[in-house]
Amino acid sequence: MRSVMMRLLLLPLLAIIFAVNLSPTAAAEPKLKALIVDGQNNHNWRGTTPELKKLLEETGLFTVDVSTSPSKGSEGFRPNFASYHVVVLNYNGAEWPKETQEDFVNYVKNGGGVVVYHAANNAFPKWREYNEIIGLGGWGGRTEKDGPYIRYRDGQIVRDETPGRGGSHGKQHEYLVTTIDSEHPITKGLPKQWLHVADELYDRLRGPAQNLTVLCTAFSDKATGGTGEHEPVLFTVQYGKGRVFHTVMGHDVKQVKCVGFAVTFQRGAEWAATGKVTQPLPTAMPTAEKTLSRD
Ligand code: ZN
Repeated sequence: MRSVMMRLLLLPLLAIIFAVNLSPTAAAEPKLKALIVDGQNNHNWRGTTPELKKLLEETGLFTVDVSTSPSKGSEGFRPNFASYHVVVLNYNGAEWPKETQEDFVNYVKNGGGVVVYHAANNAFPKWREYNEIIGLGGWGGRTEKDGPYIRYRDGQIVRDETPGRGGSHGKQHEYLVTTIDSEHPITKGLPKQWLHVADELYDRLRGPAQNLTVLCTAFSDKATGGTGEHEPVLFTVQYGKGRVFHTVMGHDVKQVKCVGFAVTFQRGAEWAATGKVTQPLPTAMPTAEKTLSRD
């Protein structure tokens, strides 16, 4: 009698345990929320946003929303930044409303993650906090009044106050990305050098550059219209409690498909969201001699 009772009690219990264990989504549900902001850009944001979204989703770590501004002006544009772990900026357009700017600054200050992607560093030249968050920017009338150039010379980061324009690039070409900080979670375990597909190599960026850590540089050759300096191409900024990952690469879809871009973007987004990188190292990367693209 007693054993029958036990069995009657155990069966539903076992059923529950099995149901929990076998539920396919319980363990696989992404934990992090990402938001891509776009809608205005002198670049192909309609083409690149879906690629960036795919890269984030592919990690299995993120669910991704996209917030697209009006095509002109920004009236009423107010994404709910605070409900995300990381905001990816694919926006270079009209100034945001005051309350949206305040929301964004508070989001980062309070520990929100940010990924600054390519031309997002052209945006908002007059917005002081935005420039502190992105660290370095270009164009939009930026000059020495906005901060120094950041250069890598003889193994040292140099804050170069030389007067001059902020933001430029030579003609598109393949360029070698060199890791100068191999201990950072984003770059740890990646090749010391890899060849990026033909892309614009941003140079002469200027900004407050506070709490800025350069992860990777690239030599901007005068032969391709560059500066003759080692320019920062991947870097981080700490702003309040917020972490910012900044990649100057990725002019269009073709450049986003570079495996080097993709891997550093995925790792940078996770780091910005959590301060850690749990993604396995890539099985293949471009080498110093040969580019590598997805698809
Ligand atoms: Zn571009």
